[in-house]
Amino acid sequence: MRFYLVTLGCPKNTVDSEMMAELLRRAGHTPVETARRADVIIVNTCGFIEAARAESYGELRALAARKRRGQRLVAMGCLAQRYGDAVRRHVPQVDAVLGTQAWPEIVALVERLHDVEPPAPILSSRPDALVTSISRRSAVGPSAYIKIADGCDASCAFCAIPLIKGRQRSKPAADIVREARELTARGVREAVLIAQDTTAYGRDRGERDALPGLMRAILAGAPELAWLRVLYAYPQNVTPALIEVLAEEERVCRYLDLPLQHAHPDVLRRMRRPHDIAQVYALIARLREAMPDVALRSTFIVGFPGETEAEFEALLTFLEEMALDHVGVFAYSPEEGTAAAQLPDQVPAEVTAERYDRAMRLQQGISRARNEAQVGRTVDVLIEGVGEGLSVGRSYREAPEIDGLVLVPGEATEGAMLRARVVAAQEYDLIAERVQSNRGR
Ligand code: SF4
Repeated sequence: MRFYLVTLGCPKNTVDSEMMAELLRRAGHTPVETARRADVIIVNTCGFIEAARAESYGELRALAARKRRGQRLVAMGCLAQRYGDAVRRHVPQVDAVLGTQAWPEIVALVERLHDVEPPAPILSSRPDALVTSISRRSAVGPSAYIKIADGCDASCAFCAIPLIKGRQRSKPAADIVREARELTARGVREAVLIAQDTTAYGRDRGERDALPGLMRAILAGAPELAWLRVLYAYPQNVTPALIEVLAEEERVCRYLDLPLQHAHPDVLRRMRRPHDIAQVYALIARLREAMPDVALRSTFIVGFPGETEAEFEALLTFLEEMALDHVGVFAYSPEEGTAAAQLPDQVPAEVTAERYDRAMRLQQGISRARNEAQVGRTVDVLIEGVGEGLSVGRSYREAPEIDGLVLVPGEATEGAMLRARVVAAQEYDLIAERVQSNRGR
């Protein structure tokens, strides 16, 4: 059968999609580039916030409208997990719904859909089924995400992830190392470790502070890997051992993504997040002391219930004082079943929108200044795309898909690691000139 796979949402979905594609290929099915040519269309949806759900419904409806006779449409992922009945109601052309943790069932489902008339039953999620024995053999481009755990044990008041994904389950280190090795054998040069909270890796097995050891095991087991990067670190779990591995290991990107969500202790308390903001200041100082060139990213929510103007301004002050390299701002939206959705004093949408704009505008100036400070530096640039006389890549300072790019005049090879000197800076992107030909690593 020919299958067409659409992936929406976060990198964790990307990894699940790559795993599913691998399973389908192994079972003899063929990926195709367009929905028109497919026998089965699979949409890996996102249900994280309202905007993500709207995008998922939009994609499902668009594909449903163009569905050919005999073609099958499968909705899977987070939206399908949480709102499976609603998906089938709103998009009746959907033939089957598969929960987020049930993706290993994809081959059986696709083959069954082929044989029987729809609708197929909704398959339940399997919360314990973090499949570790399959590692994906494909990756798009020179960078690949590796999911080291799934689910989350935290109870942040605004977040529906634990309701969708269940409790945390970590993959065995040996499987992760093998996956990294297999990816590098297929040309991947950068591995990006992801989980809901990467710093909680191993806790479900009673291990404490297991991430630094895992990183060293990956470096040893995948010697061809040029870069190892960590996303989604819970600030209170960044330990001296983690800072040490970031600072010491040449192949580990001096980059850390610390989703802080807010900077006022009262808002953080209502968010059910650690609220000792002095600790956050101290952590950032420690990171910068250990690595003066570290690039820091964070995300913040504005318009959380009860957020006063003074609390919001405390966030702006924090942004100014901390001058983080990259910041994502989200407008709060109440998620069904979460504690925050029940809180009084929901902030009016227009106030949230206005705060979003103010935070984004402030950070744009800060990010530009951080980028301008890079001018004159020579950095390694991993090339991800080439065309029209330009090579486009990233340095250690930019994570794939979420941060800016480094543009280098001249056409290099995709996957090459160039030495380049930064000559100009924009808000998000840097312009750099090549200073020497491809490096070995
Ligand atoms: S740590 Fe992240 S995924 Fe877990 S509940 Fe909090 S926001 Fe959600």
